[in-house]
Amino acid sequence: RRILLIGSGGREHALAWKLSQSASVEHVYVFPGNGGTVQTEKISNVVDESIVTERDYPALVTLALKLNIGLVVVGPDSAVVDGIEGYFRQSGIPCFAPSKEAAELEGSKTYAKDFMRKYEIPTAEYQNFDLSVAADLEQAKDYIQTVYHNAVIKASGLVAGKGVVLPSSAKEACEELDSFANGRFGDSGLSVVVEEYLEGDEISFKSFPPGQDHKRIFNGNTGPNTGGMGVYAPTTFVTDAMMSKIEETILRPTFDGLRAEGRTFRGLLLTGIMITRSGPKVLEYNVRFGDPETQTMMLLLSHNTDLAAVLLTCTQGTLKDAHLGVRSGYACNVVISSAGYPGPYSTGKPLRLDPILSRDVHIFHAGTKLIGDVLHTAGGRVFSVAAYGDSLEDAVKGAYQGVEAISFQGMHFRTDIASRCMTKR
Ligand code: ATP
Repeated sequence: RRILLIGSGGREHALAWKLSQSASVEHVYVFPGNGGTVQTEKISNVVDESIVTERDYPALVTLALKLNIGLVVVGPDSAVVDGIEGYFRQSGIPCFAPSKEAAELEGSKTYAKDFMRKYEIPTAEYQNFDLSVAADLEQAKDYIQTVYHNAVIKASGLVAGKGVVLPSSAKEACEELDSFANGRFGDSGLSVVVEEYLEGDEISFKSFPPGQDHKRIFNGNTGPNTGGMGVYAPTTFVTDAMMSKIEETILRPTFDGLRAEGRTFRGLLLTGIMITRSGPKVLEYNVRFGDPETQTMMLLLSHNTDLAAVLLTCTQGTLKDAHLGVRSGYACNVVISSAGYPGPYSTGKPLRLDPILSRDVHIFHAGTKLIGDVLHTAGGRVFSVAAYGDSLEDAVKGAYQGVEAISFQGMHFRTDIASRCMTKR
């Protein structure tokens, strides 16, 4: 079977790596890919000048037909939320992504919050507002005064950059609201969720051992929020009882609720959860593979798991028949970013990348590009260095050893991935 994988990040490199190991897979074509998705015989980037953007879905369907693709796997949230699955469904090509309707759970935070309220799924107290209406802006400011903790403000739609702000006072929150209303996040920032700040331990949950992402750019969880600077999995502090509670109060009602709405979910649901003193609460839904969560997830899949077969069965709605084997150890990954990220950063820096000798350490590329034979930086998050270990300590050590194989001007990474978990034990 031939696979078309859409996207260009560390997530896609990790998926390409794992998919290419499936016995059932002949070749993985990545579009547009990066400087790393070209290194083995079974993986290559598609160069097709006629496709101007990754979001030109009819052109991607034409490409898939031309390449005789048997399964499409989608990385980026924008494609999933745009409804890429429907384009492929119409032409009879299996596509691993939820339908546009089910993807609204991520595409519209206001929809997701109302959905949770309707199906009594625990989440932060909130109200939705439309800031293009002057009265709503005033009401939102009034609401902020009533929120028990600090307020969190979220643009409803997907926005380039992070549409979530965590102000530290009501005054700051009102100023943030003004900037949303003035178009800081464009039109998708005019529809907002204002919700209470939740204290606790944050985890990402899939039908899989939960992992913990590190969102902030600097050590000690300081500085602005990023797309994620590192992950380890499984978390060591989530008990079996907590897992069952999450299953019962969050996951099952979510899937049942979607079915009841006629939006049956077929894909990967990655739920951001805060474990608070009053129980687990949903922070957000992601309806696709996480980045950087996927980089650890791929290392935790057992060697005999045929990922392509599992994804295909899921598109057919018969996932129960598939086997997803999980290894017993730990995985950790450390994201390497360009100086300045998540703010403005420069690209085009030549890279040094030494060979990795350990079988358990993997360098997944994200923002890299081959210019001639030389790798250059081409994005904010440049690499994910991921490692597997029998213990969490080994996994973390492996990842940081892998980091030493890389250097470029302005290279940045956090040195404390998983340290909170290790000191807790
Ligand atoms: P992602 O990159 O995970 O897709 P996003 O832009 O969709 O992020 P959220 O996950 O909703 O936005 O929020 C980003 C981060 O902000 C969360 O991972 C969490 O750390 C923090 N956050 C969001 N909502 C709250 C809340 N109510 N209380 C505390 N922290 C929050």
